[in-house]
Amino acid sequence: MNYYSTNRRAPEVSLREAVMQGLAPDGGLYMPQEIRPLPDVFYESLDGLTLADVAYAAAIRFFGDDVPADILRDMVEDTLSFPIPLVQVDERIFALELFHGPTLAFKDVGARFMARLLSYFIKKEGKGNVHVLVATSGDTGSAVANGFLGVPGIEVVVLYPKGKVSPTQEMQFTTLGRNITALEVDGAFDDCQRLVKSAFVDPAVNGHLCLTSANSINIARLLPQSFYYFHAVAQLRAQGITAPVVMSVPSGNFGNLTAGLIAHRMGLPVARFLAANNENHPVFDYLRTGVYVPHPSIATLANAMDVGDPSNFARMLDLYGGNHHAMTHDIQGDWFTNEMIADLINHTFRTTGYFVDPHGACAYGALLRHLRPGEVGIFLETAHPAKFGETMRRVTGVDAPVPQRLAEFMRGTKQSLPMSRDYDDFRQYLLQR
Ligand SMILES: *Cc1c(COP(=O)(O)O)cnc(C)c1O
Repeated sequence: MNYYSTNRRAPEVSLREAVMQGLAPDGGLYMPQEIRPLPDVFYESLDGLTLADVAYAAAIRFFGDDVPADILRDMVEDTLSFPIPLVQVDERIFALELFHGPTLAFKDVGARFMARLLSYFIKKEGKGNVHVLVATSGDTGSAVANGFLGVPGIEVVVLYPKGKVSPTQEMQFTTLGRNITALEVDGAFDDCQRLVKSAFVDPAVNGHLCLTSANSINIARLLPQSFYYFHAVAQLRAQGITAPVVMSVPSGNFGNLTAGLIAHRMGLPVARFLAANNENHPVFDYLRTGVYVPHPSIATLANAMDVGDPSNFARMLDLYGGNHHAMTHDIQGDWFTNEMIADLINHTFRTTGYFVDPHGACAYGALLRHLRPGEVGIFLETAHPAKFGETMRRVTGVDAPVPQRLAEFMRGTKQSLPMSRDYDDFRQYLLQR
């Protein structure tokens, strides 16, 4: 299957090109040429299918032309080698826990799949020395570094702003070693991003190294996120629940929600979606008014959603052909202040005993407000609450239990190289690799 650019001013490309390029040359985002419903027999047997089964059924639609079936099955099983349980929080609301992977956040799914797909293409072409550059403000760096750890033929360079990521986040990508290098940049996140972007357009660097990016605009990170939506409904069905389902998604760059909309196009039986935001809510405003006005990001308690101009909005518009009315038929928005997020975390803990992280809290809050009689709600719980331990303790007075994996990262040894924010220094570094 080919992939087209949402700006439609660039040629269609193969999966390999879409994965290697990330962004299309016209500045658009790649989308699969065709999204067809899965067959009726798939939905009839959904309640008996495992996570790997549903993921493979969806994966074959996207990647089946480019990757042999047995290899694709291995890729899917290897990507999803951790559980994604559906946990009942109250009478009508369930949490889909996406945080049981290596870095305890949902980005593990897309990062792991992309690593395996890229590695397949590299092996097939006998290419080596592919460098993945990633600028991070925290969570993306850890998911990408852990997803690519030990993958042959790929070197990962993570650039992060010195002193501006949490200690937990920093340990998750600076303690790994092997094919992962962390550069501690004396600057802000924007400087890290600028250095990476400059390298991508520098002919000397590109002549010396084969560079690619692993940020969330990459279609290979987005599509695998549709897998777990099917698994969520499968788990409800297995419990005999057939009421209309509302999916609530904590949203920043809107990759997760877009993956859900793609699953919907493939026939996923959900009634509608809720898009939950923090104080960064240009998409909520668009849904309400039909006018999209991006803004600089605002720092909040749910910091992985601090995005003032979400990149995947272009894909959402594309899916609905720019039709505002059609989009509002499927998606309802809502947003929450820091105070409301804190109240929701505390209220949920007091009334249900469930520890919800600040991102999941927004999605849970949207369901509390908008679930209609007769519906059941599922919210995506995108991160383990222990990743936000300080907030959880302050708000609830209770320490979130720290999973062993997180504790192990904290016992590692930080290894990073200092880097200035001057492009010439970064350039020299890359040319000497
Ligand atoms: C990245 C992230 C989000 C936002 O996901 P998008 O796909 O960018 O909308 C939400 N919660 C957590 C914990 C994240 O890391």
